[in-house]
Amino acid sequence: MCVIGGGFTGLSAALNLAEQGLDVVLLEAETIGFGASGRNGGLIGSGQRRDVLETEEMFGLEASRVLWDFAEAAKTEIRERVAKHNIDCDLQKGQLVGIHTKRYAGWPAELSEALAERYDYPNTHALDREATRAMVATDDFIEGFFDNDAASIHPLNYALGLARACKDAGVRLFEHSRVTDYTHTDPARVNTAKGSVKASFIVLACNGYLGKLERRVAGKIMPINNFVIATEPLGAERANALISGRFGIHDTRFVVNYFRLTDDTRLLFGGGENYRPGFPRDIRNFVRPYMLRLFPQLADVAIEHAWGGTLSVTVNRLPHVGRLPPNLYFAQGYSGHGISTANFAGKIIAEAVTGNTKRFDIFATLPIRTFPGGTLLRYPGMVLGMLYYGMKDRL
Ligand SMILES: Cc1cc2nc3c(=O)[nH]c(=O)nc-3n(C[C@H](O)[C@H](O)[C@H](O)COP(=O)(O)OP(=O)(O)OC[C@H]3O[C@@H](n4cnc5c(N)ncnc54)[C@H](O)[C@@H]3O)c2cc1C
Repeated sequence: MCVIGGGFTGLSAALNLAEQGLDVVLLEAETIGFGASGRNGGLIGSGQRRDVLETEEMFGLEASRVLWDFAEAAKTEIRERVAKHNIDCDLQKGQLVGIHTKRYAGWPAELSEALAERYDYPNTHALDREATRAMVATDDFIEGFFDNDAASIHPLNYALGLARACKDAGVRLFEHSRVTDYTHTDPARVNTAKGSVKASFIVLACNGYLGKLERRVAGKIMPINNFVIATEPLGAERANALISGRFGIHDTRFVVNYFRLTDDTRLLFGGGENYRPGFPRDIRNFVRPYMLRLFPQLADVAIEHAWGGTLSVTVNRLPHVGRLPPNLYFAQGYSGHGISTANFAGKIIAEAVTGNTKRFDIFATLPIRTFPGGTLLRYPGMVLGMLYYGMKDRL
């Protein structure tokens, strides 16, 4: 088996495969967790990227329930991995969604009711403006939605913990080993600049960093760069006055703001994105205005860290999972909801390779359209669309 990519998708696939007794080589172009998996906001949401009200409308209640159950299994996979491998990654419970516009007023109550009644999920509740303000000191939110069973983690530490578990299970991990190409044969030959691997199956787990490696799936995703800052430590008192706990938070904007307190009382804040290769030169001052818009009281606080990463989205924001004959499995396009979904995708790819295709086949039937214009022309139209909705956020 050869897994290409050392993020959550690749690590999860490699670990689950090795645990089934397969001989697994993982090739990572840079270092483990170099991609989105080591750079993200750490928010683990329940459900899919589209909420159940939307998936019910798209696919009907029965299929929506299956997708919900998959997402619950994804959260369980992470919790079990953390416990089983003793991964020190600051796993915390809870997530708040802050409603920033009247357009979504009432959505928290409607969604909570649907989850309790049709999904046996009693862990969420709606919050009015005052209750939301008591949890997050911003005037931006007019309502809130709290999910007790969502979570957050230190994502890079989780990725490194998975990598350790992979090694313990016998996976051979090679960093600085960029795959240049592979044959479409059975077995396949996977090539890097310095060597090659013969493999009965390939797992392609490059997501937003795929580039031109596999043109047959590249047109289904659009890479997006997203940015994060971390403040200086705020101290316990100021941190608690800002956010009343260690839960993660995001808003309802198209270009979403997401944030949480870290264990050393920093505010980690994600906001802003771009749609072209390369990051802004000054990420600190690119993201800071997004933070100050919600928290003007942090104007005096220093930003100590700033970074960016690349994720990928699909047209309908549902994951793109599948198999290309004769022997290549892939998963990508988690659309900002990849911590749990990538880990789950890796697990069900391993199930499929070892003969249990039930869950994989269901996930692989999700209808994912190719971006108009494929890889060549997907940018102009999509970028215009993204910029338009981003501008609406700001207005
Ligand atoms: C800034 C940011 C914030 C985010 N916040 C959240 C969040 O709060 N919650 C959430 O659920 N999701 C979030 N996401 C999305 C989430 O991080 C991703 O969906 C998830 O990590 C994808 O994992 P992956 O393994 O598929 O891809 P990646 O982690 O991107 O891994 C792909 C790997 O493939 C390697 N690679 C590429 N090409 C080759 C090659 N030719 N040969 C060898 N290796 C190669 C890359 O170097 C990379 O390490 C965020 C993403 C970003 C960028």
